[in-house]
Amino acid sequence: MKQGRIIIVSGPSGVGKGTVLKEVMKDDPSLRFSVSATTRAIRPGEIDGVHYFFIDKPRFEAMLQNNEMLEHAEYAGNYYGTPEKAVDEALSQGISVVLEIEVQGALQVMRRRPDAISIFIAPPSFEELARRLNGRGDTPPDVAAERLRIAVEECKNAPKYKYTIINDTVSEAAAKIRAILTAEACRSEYTTI
Ligand code: 5GP
Repeated sequence: MKQGRIIIVSGPSGVGKGTVLKEVMKDDPSLRFSVSATTRAIRPGEIDGVHYFFIDKPRFEAMLQNNEMLEHAEYAGNYYGTPEKAVDEALSQGISVVLEIEVQGALQVMRRRPDAISIFIAPPSFEELARRLNGRGDTPPDVAAERLRIAVEECKNAPKYKYTIINDTVSEAAAKIRAILTAEACRSEYTTI
């Protein structure tokens, strides 16, 4: 059976990655989200085992020791990592796995799995990203300013990804990602005649 592909997706906070990915993945059983492990606290509305596996630091460190993580990173004072076994099980069933992860972890996956498809989602402009960050309404101005500063730094990494998508509108960005996946599936090295 044809192996699935790893699809790495990164982009700054507020860029709308989640919305675009939901649009790409709806009604497509050949794509699955990887469920990461994290030491951060669970937020209202999140479900353990669905959005993340919420684990404590000793458990996370034990998983690292046992080489159970495909990649991991520290972000905003918490650990995040991708359990490798679930990824490989899906790939062997022909299912492609979407890793929505930050840049440090993404670079580790690119090194370890050179055939991964890496996509950076960027805002149309930093003015627009600032509007989106402030538009959430619940973010104090100093927190929004700090997120914008981090976003500018994160966007400097876009050239390390195979593809960069500007998220002008959700439907256009989703269409571009589908086009990338279609083209990648047609690459000669993945096609047997
Ligand atoms: P949040 O805490 O807001 O859910 O996620 C914070 C950041 O961690 C986001 O940029 C998200 O993409 C990233 N992230 C989530 N899971 C993982 C993971 O398994 N590995 C890495 N490296 N980053 C992750």
